[in-house]
Amino acid sequence: MVLQSGRIREILDVESARSKYPNAVWLEFPTHVMLPGLINMHTHSAMTLLRGYADDLELNTWLRDHIWPAEKRWLSPEFVRDGTELAIAEMLRCGTTCFSEMYFFPETIADVVDQAGMRACIGSPIIEFETAWASGFDQYFEKAMRLRADLRGHERLTMALAPHAAYTVTDSMLERIAEASSRYDLCVHMHLLEIAWEIQHSLQEFNERPLKRLQRLGLLNHRFLAVHMAHLSDDDIESLAANEVNVIHCPESNLKLASGFCPVAKLQSAGVNVAVGTDGAASNNNLDLVGELRTAALLAKGLAGDPCAVDAATAIEMVTINAAKALGLEGSIGSIETGKSADLCAIDLEWPETQPVHHVLSQVVYAASSRQVSDVWVQGQRLLKEGHLMTLDVPGIRDRAKNWNRRMGVQA
Ligand SMILES: [Zn+2]
Repeated sequence: MVLQSGRIREILDVESARSKYPNAVWLEFPTHVMLPGLINMHTHSAMTLLRGYADDLELNTWLRDHIWPAEKRWLSPEFVRDGTELAIAEMLRCGTTCFSEMYFFPETIADVVDQAGMRACIGSPIIEFETAWASGFDQYFEKAMRLRADLRGHERLTMALAPHAAYTVTDSMLERIAEASSRYDLCVHMHLLEIAWEIQHSLQEFNERPLKRLQRLGLLNHRFLAVHMAHLSDDDIESLAANEVNVIHCPESNLKLASGFCPVAKLQSAGVNVAVGTDGAASNNNLDLVGELRTAALLAKGLAGDPCAVDAATAIEMVTINAAKALGLEGSIGSIETGKSADLCAIDLEWPETQPVHHVLSQVVYAASSRQVSDVWVQGQRLLKEGHLMTLDVPGIRDRAKNWNRRMGVQA
């Protein structure tokens, strides 16, 4: 593979490359598999600082009695900066080159991602109640539009509108979000059908199931990123396929919070584009997409009662090209092709855990661990080199995380 100016210029055999590009700088990875950079389609990066803060709890209790009060107390640009840096360090070490984010102070997140050299789609959050970042819908919306203007034309950063969930955003807010999404061609990134209670709530409040409501409000289309989708009827699946909605599956978060099961094999049979996210570290508790990939493949087989469901190649597609399609970036990332951005991840298969290599993709999905990720490039820039992060101050990131632990502990 020949890289030039951050792009994949040509893919050819070693001998031809040596004669055609005699002056090129050579890097050799004889024991590695080179994959497109992995894409984490749903996370709340700064929640790394809440990793292990409230575990083994029911979802509503976890969210309303622990996570939201902690955020109310601690949320600030400093918290978001330190937490996002920690998240990026972890994600790069696990082979992730791009992530789809949803958290407060998105302009701070954008700064951190930019400085690290990573790629992201920054979801600007919208929720009906006041937070340290915004006072109400008008301010959330205005700040989202400002972020859109600030990031326009950026090579590695895009933005999305990120209404929190169907039960925390009103009809009139969702209508304005749908209108802006269509006018500016923006993805809408939203938690949906994570818990069964959402269906009862929607039937009581709006006399229709959540997906019907979102369709009425003009949100169901190819720009919609529906995160979780653990409570789907057959009619819902048909509607998702007909409207070209993208489903973002977060298997480990759903398992940990016992939310339910996203029927990945059924969705794929119906033609729905399914990608994978880790969710935040407060409900996972890591951002390891290599591990998430394996969980997604195994869970899909178990749930479908079919060992052929989600084979290794399909699982890899879920964290690469399917994710790129969901973000509307399939023309530039998500696969190793001439002309695409050089966003790459090298996994060393020489480890005893992945020997012998009968089938490369099977080894990656079913046997490899993220510890075997040695190198990562985004737009041709080597951000992880032989296991070392090149653009981040790791001791500083660790010290700041420890400092948050001390501060939060004192107040608890
Ligand atoms: Zn989430």
